[in-house]
Amino acid sequence: MIVAIDGPAGTGKSSTSKAVAAQLGLSYLDTGAQYRAITWWMVNNGIDIDDPAAIAAAAGKPEIVSGTDPQAPTISVDGVDVAGPIRTQEVSAKVSAVSAVPEVRARITELQRSIAASAANGVVVEGRDIGTTVLPDADLKIFLTASPEARAARRSGELKGADVHSTREALIKRDAADSSRKTSPLAKADDAVEVDTTELTLAQVIECVVTLVEE
Ligand code: C5P
Repeated sequence: MIVAIDGPAGTGKSSTSKAVAAQLGLSYLDTGAQYRAITWWMVNNGIDIDDPAAIAAAAGKPEIVSGTDPQAPTISVDGVDVAGPIRTQEVSAKVSAVSAVPEVRARITELQRSIAASAANGVVVEGRDIGTTVLPDADLKIFLTASPEARAARRSGELKGADVHSTREALIKRDAADSSRKTSPLAKADDAVEVDTTELTLAQVIECVVTLVEE
């Protein structure tokens, strides 16, 4: 069973995907964490984020490892646990530029496919291009949406008191960059089920996805 959950930031993808995977005994893969991890490595190694050729040349260097237990997912780069450092505002502001570089996407997509292929019971994979590009044969594809206001309110809640207005601006900017890049942009697959989470609680979204998996 392979479940692809795509959508913009702040729609509840991570919380939903983890809970659905835990409930159904599946593995869980956070592909955004992988793009954040490679971005963190680029920043830490002095790669110029405005130079796609420099990013492309370095794309094969870091070793990124994802732990896929939905109760305790992990992410490391060259053996260093980066779960905390990849969530900074700096990484969030730079990740779209790094993930737009085709060599980065090719590398991370290959990693994602091999993780999905080796998940014994199946996997819930969350991201932006899972249903369209990474796993186009997924058994179920979900596309989560929510109003920009709801997304910003959720994200600033997660960031413990961050200003809602500036969070909203940053999210809109990141979604615009992710949707307009040439290589596998943020997009809904034609055969994905769209779920608008604006008026739903997390528990309702989880129930909706579990029901769709079990159908
Ligand atoms: O999901 P999260 O917000 O952590 O993703 C961070 C960024 O990683 C996205 O804004 C996007 O630039 C990139 N990403 C991507 N493709 C994916 C998952 C994430 O380009 N499948």
